[in-house]
Amino acid sequence: MKIGFIGLGNMGAPMAANLAKSHEVVGFDTIAAPAGLTLAQSAADAANDADVVITMLPNGEILRAVAAEIHPAMKAGAIHLDCSTVDVESARAVAAEAEAAGLSAIDAPVSGGIGGATNGTLTFMAGGPAAAFATVEPLFAIMGQKAVHCGPSGNGQAAKICNNMILGVTMIATCEAFALADKLGLDRQAMFDVVSTSSGASWSVNAYCPAPGIGPQSPSDNGYKPGFAAELMLKDLNLSQMAAEAADADTPMGQAARDLYAQFVENEGGSGKDFSAMLPRFEKRHRT
Ligand code: NAD
Repeated sequence: MKIGFIGLGNMGAPMAANLAKSHEVVGFDTIAAPAGLTLAQSAADAANDADVVITMLPNGEILRAVAAEIHPAMKAGAIHLDCSTVDVESARAVAAEAEAAGLSAIDAPVSGGIGGATNGTLTFMAGGPAAAFATVEPLFAIMGQKAVHCGPSGNGQAAKICNNMILGVTMIATCEAFALADKLGLDRQAMFDVVSTSSGASWSVNAYCPAPGIGPQSPSDNGYKPGFAAELMLKDLNLSQMAAEAADADTPMGQAARDLYAQFVENEGGSGKDFSAMLPRFEKRHRT
């Protein structure tokens, strides 16, 4: 397949590099120019000859602008595969525009971070027409280990933000419980051994324990260097609140998690730290 790849940042560059091992890839980025990849002069140039154009961009506004530039340049029947994390509304608007231009669109945000992008072990959650999903499935298999078709356009983004809303809430609950356990004189290893095999178990506890030296290797063992940065968690929690607002859904825990990560990132030095650095935050605090 001929692939155009637009957005060659932390995630896009290694994803494009993996695809370039077995496909013809032409990349474009306004700033980044990773070595070893054929680069075009513009997004439209990267897109015009491609069977599939992949975008991996920071947000929905930029995605909409890039889509408006590339859709008229793409050949009839080609597929726009967006892997960015964006709002559901932008994903659905871009898909409608693609369809009107004689193209197909798949929204397929990822889970797995920079390590998953580099190692080709991402999980994709996809929305869009089944035929287009089937066409890009071999590309998911190169860039990742699992791809779930979640339904029509926008449903990939819906799955991503609902998953990350659970993650943000459970990470906060895990960190506040570990900080409380400390104050009650409970050994952290004992706390982990109990919770990880009891009804408080979750991915945040079992696979990504925020307490250094406890559980499997995680960013807490590396000075809370991301991993998954607190500001990216805040981005996703903001997206879930935008979606909840639009869908008239009551999400009090998601809202509380959003507010706490906003406070952490904007006022408490959490920017640049892993999202599990909520534990040292709680350790320092007292009941107000
Ligand atoms: P990044 O900022 O490193 O990369 C984005 C790239 O897009 C940059 O290189 C930037 O120059 C480029 N860009 C911006 N505007 C452009 C335009 N108009 N045309 C072409 N290129 C443009 O971000 P990232 O970490 O690679 O994340 C990309 C997406 O993946 C985001 O939506 C993010 O939420 C999502 N994501 C990131 C992670 C992670 O751990 N980094 C994990 C899951 C999902």
